[in-house]
Amino acid sequence: MRAEVLAELRAIVGPQYVLDRLEDRICYSTDATWERAVPDVVVLPETTEQVSRILRLANREGIPVTPRGAGTGLSGGAVPVRGGIVLSLTRMNRILEIDRRNLLAVVQPGVVTGDLQQAVEAVGLFYPPDPASLRVSTIGGNIAENAGGPRCFKYGVTRDYVLGLEVVLATGEVLRTGARTVKSVTGYDLTRLLVGSEGTLGVVTEATLRLIPKPEHQATLMAVFSRLEEAGEAVSRIVAAGVVPASLEIIDQTALKVVEEFLQIGLPTEAEAVLLISVDGWREAVARQVERVAGACREAGAAAVEVARTPEEEAELWRARRSLNPAVTRLGPVKVGEDVAVPPAQVPEFLRRFQYLRQKYTGLPMVVYGHAGDGNLHPNVVVDPRRPGERERVEAWLAELARLALDLGGTLSGEHGIGTLKAPFLEWEVGPVGLQVMRAIKRALDPRGILNPGKMGLDEGPAGEVAGGGGT
Ligand SMILES: Cc1cc2nc3c(=O)[nH]c(=O)nc-3n(C[C@H](O)[C@H](O)[C@H](O)COP(=O)(O)OP(=O)(O)OC[C@H]3O[C@@H](n4cnc5c(N)ncnc54)[C@H](O)[C@@H]3O)c2cc1C
Repeated sequence: MRAEVLAELRAIVGPQYVLDRLEDRICYSTDATWERAVPDVVVLPETTEQVSRILRLANREGIPVTPRGAGTGLSGGAVPVRGGIVLSLTRMNRILEIDRRNLLAVVQPGVVTGDLQQAVEAVGLFYPPDPASLRVSTIGGNIAENAGGPRCFKYGVTRDYVLGLEVVLATGEVLRTGARTVKSVTGYDLTRLLVGSEGTLGVVTEATLRLIPKPEHQATLMAVFSRLEEAGEAVSRIVAAGVVPASLEIIDQTALKVVEEFLQIGLPTEAEAVLLISVDGWREAVARQVERVAGACREAGAAAVEVARTPEEEAELWRARRSLNPAVTRLGPVKVGEDVAVPPAQVPEFLRRFQYLRQKYTGLPMVVYGHAGDGNLHPNVVVDPRRPGERERVEAWLAELARLALDLGGTLSGEHGIGTLKAPFLEWEVGPVGLQVMRAIKRALDPRGILNPGKMGLDEGPAGEVAGGGGT
């Protein structure tokens, strides 16, 4: 990067917030995937005005800018595949307001998701989106990926809690969308367009988030199944029984074994699968939901159904679920985590066909867990990309999973986004016209293509041209 540009960046944010030493830049070269590309410089702004000036400069010079939160993304979104500037929003980490009367919070993008949850729960409110990465991931990253989590089955995803945004466009102009009202139908819904846009349309610098009252009570059950398909069947039966659990998670045997080895808390590793189910609401309603859920699981063939008796037991079960990702990561150098989603009634069929993939790709350690209630599943493989042919095998596996989900009426990504990893498959789902529309929106908002280039198959040319990253 030219010395004059570096000098301008230093003048905008202060010299200590412009990192151009190789060892610093390497720290910002990847996310939680195997993608890697070293940026030319890392810039850490503190205000919207600074973000605006940085983007104006980048747009003038045609320098790529990759916005970044905590770098926990699972689709390659924060990896600067075209080099240029990594724009880290972690210094903009203040909760600006919690408005109890109007049930909303105003936050900066670098606020850690779990910190916001704790702050609102301390005043009797609730921010439901709960990615398993919540102790690290940021609200800006959650908005950009439209993140989900276990509680989304009942409560919806991040998008359902974003009332309005402040966004800096590629040109440096500051756009405000949405309103502080419960309802607003003024003009195009730009908020929804920006949520899930993976940093390709603008940089989120402030968000107004909807809150709800904290549920009075919660109970957690664990249902143990000797066969994976029975667990899938139980999911359908729970939904058919008219219960919408706050969370309805499935963990297969391989994943159970891995997490048990990691935590050693006595999980039933002989089971082919367990369901972890939380129900919440008024105390009396919770008791009735527990009965119905337990009944549905037994009818589907559960070998055992246990209800956590204390908050500590409940916390332990959820700790097991949240530890899955790090536990699986210990199996090998790189974990590739998928997040296809299928209509909930197709979960048993998905699991049946997944068993076939497991056999076809023998030798690749494979686990499956996920948000079975909303049909969003996380098949994972652990891979050593240094072994000849291994990366190609995993890419073939990813393509087969994408086809499988789409064949069952599902979608490529329930929560992790497209990034680089799923760019080759985007057109399979949205079709050529869908892709054209997305590219036209991108061109309108970012004519020079500086914002997070190389992602979502949005670069002109065939979709997926940039898949796999191009970085070093
Ligand atoms: C252990 C683990 C568990 C996870 N569990 C879940 C889960 O349950 N559910 C789920 O949905 N995801 C999960 N994830 C994925 C990841 O945590 C989410 O995608 C999260 O939203 C990313 O947030 P981040 O702050 O780390 O963003 P980053 O990884 O830094 O960035 C993600 C994307 O957002 C863009 N971006 C970041 N900040 C901004 C901003 N201010 N403005 C515009 N664009 C921005 C980036 O350019 C990039 O495209 C998990 C990841 C890990 C490692």
